[in-house]
Amino acid sequence: MWRKTLNFQGKSGGSCPFFKGDKMDVWNKLYSSALAVQKGRQISKYVEAGGVAAAIESASGKIYTGVCVDTCSTLGICAERNAIFNMLTCGEDEIKRVLAIMPNGKTGAPCGACRELMVQLMPEKYMDIEIMLDYESGRTITLGELTPEWWIK
Ligand SMILES: [Zn+2]
Repeated sequence: MWRKTLNFQGKSGGSCPFFKGDKMDVWNKLYSSALAVQKGRQISKYVEAGGVAAAIESASGKIYTGVCVDTCSTLGICAERNAIFNMLTCGEDEIKRVLAIMPNGKTGAPCGACRELMVQLMPEKYMDIEIMLDYESGRTITLGELTPEWWIK
C-alpha cells in the first residue's frame, strides 16, 4: 500500500487558513515538520519506513518528529510513538499536541496503541492532549474527547 505513495510530495504546508495567530503557527509547524520527514521507502527486504510521519509538540513548545517503521514481524512502531520516544529521549515527558500525516497525505487520529501510551505517560493530563484530525478543515479533538472512558481510572 505505501509503495503507491513513495513519490508522494505532500502539500506545501504552512498555509492552513483555519488557524489564526499562535495556534495556527503551532499546527502549521507541526504539519510542515511531519511532512519534512515523510519519505516512504523500503529499507531492506523486511523493513519499510516513513510512509506515515508524525510531529508532536511537547510542554516546552519543542517539536519532535517520528516516522512509522513496518517490519515483517512485530518489531516496527507507529510514527506517533516514534515521535513520543524521540521526545522522551530528549528528556521531556509531556505532550501538548499531536499531528500525523498518513500515506494519502491526510492527517488522522492515532491508533489505540499510541493513545494507550499517551494515557500511561500522562494519566492525569492526557485528556487535554490536542490531536489534529483533519488539517484541511482544521478539525481538532482532544484525546479525552476521542477516547473518553479509559480503563485507567
Ligand atoms: Zn499508533
